[in-house]
Amino acid sequence: MEVTVGVASFQGDVEEHLSATREALKRVNVGGRAVTVKLPEEIEAADALIVPGGESTVMGRLSSHTKALDALRRKILAGTPVLGTCAGLILLAKRVYDRVVGETGQSTLGVLDILVERNTYGRQRDSFEALIDIPALGLREYRAVFIRAPGIIETGENVEVLATLSGRPVAVRQRSILGTTFHPELSESTAIHEELIRLALLQKSR
Ligand code: GLN
Repeated sequence: MEVTVGVASFQGDVEEHLSATREALKRVNVGGRAVTVKLPEEIEAADALIVPGGESTVMGRLSSHTKALDALRRKILAGTPVLGTCAGLILLAKRVYDRVVGETGQSTLGVLDILVERNTYGRQRDSFEALIDIPALGLREYRAVFIRAPGIIETGENVEVLATLSGRPVAVRQRSILGTTFHPELSESTAIHEELIRLALLQKSR
């Protein structure tokens, strides 16, 4: 079985996700491809989706994306596995506010039942790396890269916390929705992308 992984290319670190996905496909020995998706029909054709990091306000605001965002929401609600990273996680979240400015009024897809605080680590810790354990994926001391990362403040009852840093969730899963506050596309390990591919295979074989 082959899988097509679509990386939403509205804005943000698209190239890194394409290469991480291609590497992950090789490592799990699954045929398929990683492509950029922007148009509703491209989104429709994907077996799994990635919403990259970047600027969540920009991604949500561009009205030219409205149809694409609708398509994305429809696909995710229909069970297509999706990985949202950093700003991509913010775009998936049900509720969001900014640590400094408070309510942002930004529109999100609202499919992942979490409350997210943007820029939670502030200026002093703009970017940093940390070693985290992700037991559900069999990972110990996974090197996670955080860049102006958001914080997950609350999780709904259907949301499983996969990893924490200083007691706060940094990776979560709600059915086939995976979210990280860090950037798995910048790690040596492609484990998170591999998990997305596994979910895609599972969904496809149903
Ligand atoms: N701070 C950005 C936002 O809130 C996210 C940063 C990132 O994706 N690296 O949209």
